[in-house]
Amino acid sequence: MRFPMIRDIATTAVISIDVNKTVADALDVMLHQEHRSIVITDKKMFKLFTVIDILEIKDKKISLDTPLYKLNLQSMPTIKKYQNVLETLEYLAGSVEFIAVLNEDDSLFGIVTHTDITHNIDPETLMENYRLADFIKLGRRMKWVKKEEKTSKILSEMVRESFDNVIIIDDLVPLGILTTKDIMRLIVENQNLDFPVCEYMSSPVDTVNKNVSIKTALEFLKSKKYKRIVAVDDEGVISGIVSQKELISLTYSRWAMLMKEHEAELNEINILLQSQNKEFETMASTDALTGLFNRYKFSELFVSTYKTMMLRDSKMSLILLDIDFFKKVNDTYGHNNGDRVLVKVAHALHHIIRNIDIVCRWGGEEFVVLLPTASIENAIAIAEKIRMYVENMEIPEVGKITISCGVSEVECEENMKRVIERADKALYLAKNSGRNCVKSELDI
Ligand code: GH3
Ligand code: MG
Ligand code: MG
Repeated sequence: MRFPMIRDIATTAVISIDVNKTVADALDVMLHQEHRSIVITDKKMFKLFTVIDILEIKDKKISLDTPLYKLNLQSMPTIKKYQNVLETLEYLAGSVEFIAVLNEDDSLFGIVTHTDITHNIDPETLMENYRLADFIKLGRRMKWVKKEEKTSKILSEMVRESFDNVIIIDDLVPLGILTTKDIMRLIVENQNLDFPVCEYMSSPVDTVNKNVSIKTALEFLKSKKYKRIVAVDDEGVISGIVSQKELISLTYSRWAMLMKEHEAELNEINILLQSQNKEFETMASTDALTGLFNRYKFSELFVSTYKTMMLRDSKMSLILLDIDFFKKVNDTYGHNNGDRVLVKVAHALHHIIRNIDIVCRWGGEEFVVLLPTASIENAIAIAEKIRMYVENMEIPEVGKITISCGVSEVECEENMKRVIERADKALYLAKNSGRNCVKSELDI
């Protein structure tokens, strides 16, 4: 899910007029182009001039020849067209209806309205769980009047209380609506506003049951191109009015919430993957039976340990060891007991070696021990210790076993294969010398 850029959702079909022109000029352009608002450009400031302002002008008996700069209009907040749509949220939450969208050079690109947002952001899946009634419960501001009220009085109230619409009711049932669009028509037609409001309202008013989902409500607004929804209960009695702006704010906060939930979900997946990765790594680097490093991991560790030892100008030796007559163990006591012997030898190795030593199951019943910092003499001594330890071990159901060891010292610039080869030669010698003994390359 991607948050669109302001550029993607802004309305570029806006009309504008210079601040030095008059109210009459503005009204002219607006009527001509059928716009209910016009952007007044004042250097780098942008003000929105709407039908409500015209109403006020008429109410205050200000001349239509007044230049626009003399009007006390609020500048619109501005936003760059490459900004993220989420950055409009703070405006949507406030009372601002329009935001000027600017190009890189601060010229006017368009404006963003709540309509733009509904038309461009698909509320699919977001709002299924919220109902209009949930909104209405929040005590939203709305204005409804009786059908006999004088139109001029209602218009003055609308200006004073900043309502852009009123619902006309009869016995709490919505009869019609009077919006800014109607007001503009009244002014242009120079209507007598002393008549009751029901003379001028748009009727009948489209209502929506308060129990519909926000999603349905948004779709309704979109299809009808309305800015607000008049919600009624099952009896048709007015429950409230919800503006598109309010629905959008909720959509966005819900959306933001979903994104957060999504983020949490992603984190969980990440953690899971990380632990799985660790598991895979362990699987790929260790021998399942003994838990020792496998040959692959040993090669890796050999290289890194070798580099460290060379840097420290330190020696490093290696023991290759093989269980004597292991085939006989298997043949006599069974494969499972053979496996137990392998595990026992692995334990023995762990028992003897130092923390810095690296033990690996080289394959079958062969093991390699890498001894950083150890000279060949040290390594022979350690191998002898291991040999003796194993010789004295009592293995259940199997009894005694022995091992043979071949020891070699890593030479400068030498690769693992060569050191192993020399250890293997020493091991071969140990086997040929009656087994259960340690031989080193010094014996070859
Ligand atoms: P030597 O003293 O010359 O080393 O004789 P040996 O019998 O130990 O050597 P050989 O290479 O002839 O036999 C090794 C046996 O180890 C053969 C094979 O079946 C057994 N083996 C290899 N891997 C495993 C294993 O994971 N579990 C068990 N139980 N046996 C294994
Ligand atoms: Mg062997
Ligand atoms: Mg063997």
